Amino acid sequence: MENNTPQRRPRVLSAIQPTAIPTIGNYLGALRNWKAMSDDYDCVYAVADLHAITVRQDPATLRRQTLEAFALLLSIGLDPEKNVIFIQSHVNTHSQLAWILDCYTQFGEASRMTQFKDKSQKHADNVNVGLFTYPVLMAADILLYQANFVPIGADQKQHLEITRDIAERFNGIYGNTFTIPEAFIGKVGARVMSLQNPTQKMSKSDPNPKASVSILDTPDAIMKKFKSAVTDSEAVVRYGEGKDGINNLMSIYSCCTGKSFEEIENEFAGKGYGDFKVSVAEAVIEELTPVRERFNERITDKAYLMECAAKGADMAQRISQRTLDKVMRKVGFLQK
Ligand code: ATP
Ligand code: MG
Repeated sequence: MENNTPQRRPRVLSAIQPTAIPTIGNYLGALRNWKAMSDDYDCVYAVADLHAITVRQDPATLRRQTLEAFALLLSIGLDPEKNVIFIQSHVNTHSQLAWILDCYTQFGEASRMTQFKDKSQKHADNVNVGLFTYPVLMAADILLYQANFVPIGADQKQHLEITRDIAERFNGIYGNTFTIPEAFIGKVGARVMSLQNPTQKMSKSDPNPKASVSILDTPDAIMKKFKSAVTDSEAVVRYGEGKDGINNLMSIYSCCTGKSFEEIENEFAGKGYGDFKVSVAEAVIEELTPVRERFNERITDKAYLMECAAKGADMAQRISQRTLDKVMRKVGFLQK
């Protein structure tokens, strides 16, 4: 499908970093929506390896995790023939546009990003400039494809806002160049919290294995992690203030079963947290089993995965090059 043709379906773009196997936070907050949107939109999805090196990565591990993340995207049910699925570093327009947009982003606005503050605390020995300009690269990812919607978890909302600001600023100076993207954030599951510290978001790079459930965890491991999830001493399954652990489990259960909080409260009235935790674990296991089975099959066929990645990169390069060329002309670079 050609970029910018008036009859094209609205475009969706999103990306995930190959920093570890995705968690149920990534799945419920983002990946599940990627799949849901793929029927009605023109979807472009990336494995964001350029973003991943803002935190120090072991090269062999990064390579493995990049392939795994790509295989996982195919395993959540995305069709590489119908969607553009690619690895970010295979398409050179991303870093090129990021540099240009760096020059249209103010130091002050980038300094207000909470992810930068959080990650610089977590990685105090490596507060690199890439960590600081991360949102500008993310803006480039989105704006290159003239994306209308960006399905993300709530933690990325601020980055989407800065993307819109950068795009509006650029359009204001040079005339209409970029589509202004809108965040697509689900109502439930947009912020899955850590099972061990439910005031913090679940993060796939959290070193505590009990804090997060990976999409590929075995049913046994999933059950164990939910059984040891931190809750409170009230022993009543209800959504409320000061009940971060239970609120989180209720959100996860609601996402997997489609039940409302009220229905969940009724279902577990008079029952203890033990029963509830087992039910949450079972619902998650049921949701993830087909993904894990498909993944275990796909990951063994590297040749097929690399072929899909090459096709995806070709399509992504073609679409994004048009935007980059336009930007370079507008900024005033002498044409070759
Ligand atoms: P890292 O710790 O490496 O940053 P991450 O778990 O934050 O890992 P990302 O690759 O940064 O994962 O984000 C991928 C997608 O998952 C983004 O759309 C992000 O908003 C979403 N996401 C991340 N964490 C959560 C969460 N706890 N709940 C819901 N969505 C989330
Ligand atoms: Mg993240």
